[in-house]
Amino acid sequence: MKRRPSFLVGIALGAALTVALTVLVAASSTEKISPVDARPREVYFPNSESLAPDEMRVIACGTGMPTTRASQAAACFLVELGNGDKFLFDIGSGSAERISSLQIPYDYLDKIFIGHLHGDHFGAIGELFIGGALMGRVVPLRIWGPSGQVPELGTKYAIEKMEEMYTWDLAGRAGLIDFRGYRTEVHEFDYKGVNQVVYQDNGVTIRSFPAIHSIDGPVSYSLEWNGLKFVFGSDTYPNKWFIEYAQDADLVVHECFVAVPDLVAKMRFTPESALLVGTQVHTAPEAFGKVMSAVKPRMAVAYHFFKDFDTTAAVNDRIRKTYDGPLSLAEDLMVWNITKDEITTRMAVVEEATWAPPGTQPAMPPKPSDRDSFSKRLGLADLEYSDFIAGGKWNVDDVLRPIYKEAGEVLGREFKYPGDE
Ligand SMILES: [Zn+2]
Ligand SMILES: [Zn+2]
Repeated sequence: MKRRPSFLVGIALGAALTVALTVLVAASSTEKISPVDARPREVYFPNSESLAPDEMRVIACGTGMPTTRASQAAACFLVELGNGDKFLFDIGSGSAERISSLQIPYDYLDKIFIGHLHGDHFGAIGELFIGGALMGRVVPLRIWGPSGQVPELGTKYAIEKMEEMYTWDLAGRAGLIDFRGYRTEVHEFDYKGVNQVVYQDNGVTIRSFPAIHSIDGPVSYSLEWNGLKFVFGSDTYPNKWFIEYAQDADLVVHECFVAVPDLVAKMRFTPESALLVGTQVHTAPEAFGKVMSAVKPRMAVAYHFFKDFDTTAAVNDRIRKTYDGPLSLAEDLMVWNITKDEITTRMAVVEEATWAPPGTQPAMPPKPSDRDSFSKRLGLADLEYSDFIAGGKWNVDDVLRPIYKEAGEVLGREFKYPGDE
């Protein structure tokens, strides 16, 4: 019984809507309110725009915290230059997926500059090391990073241990695929170097200067090319070197930490730790603003906070107490195009299921010698399955042999089935 009145109301509403829509359709067909010419894109679709020879593009591949979220990976910024060069600054946990969605051949993603060795700033390096080589990087992954007070606190040690951690992974791949990319090349430099050149090639100069964060070791970077300057802070308490060497920069990325009340309310920090971590180890939003007021970049980029509907306003208000210049509150996949005349800020729209584009150099067939050198290193006669494990194979040769035959027919050459003479 109760349903009857609302049913009737529904019919009445439906009829009214139909009349309204009919009027609208009639109006639009005569007044042409819909534009027919394409307007300039307000989003960035990867692999759809060429860079001008004097243009720099920066893409945030991670802007959040060590506890990564589907919406925010940890620190990672990609810099692409009009001369074709590409550089990654930090490669925090979760950022490898963002990088992959940008449709860049992996052999261009071979240069990483690490600001410090917290996991949220280099936690995805293993994914780029292994996954990048698997999808076309045939050169070593080149990594620049600071030394520490002792060798164990330096970049070289961290990367050596990462490769050791992957011993089984690498041994398991050697001899099966093109193994040339499964190497690293570490360039460790003095963390106390002040505005020291750590990279110079193809018109690009990258310098490092000390940062203050947790313990000795962290650094910030500047990249200069073709009259444009990008500065990346990694993590740091406001410091004099940053104020001095980030001057005259076009785009300046500096951490801006989760506001203290949110550290307590949302991350369950005690007030004591929230105050210490949020103001003394990191840069509080108010302090970020003060830094940017001193540096005066063409665009200030704040990152390293959970950017949500209920946190962003507070971060912005706190920054605006001390800074009134151009500001981007970064989130993952924010894109900046920088020329001498203009800086545009947009969001990238990515195809999540994209595959890596082909590399610039074709892959080579596997070399048995790669596997042999691993066996030697590990003190094993060979890396073949033991009799015990090999004896567990269930025979599916009858369906696998035709795959070899098919490949042979398609490619016009013979592929020997494993174990055949
Ligand atoms: Zn850190
Ligand atoms: Zn951090």
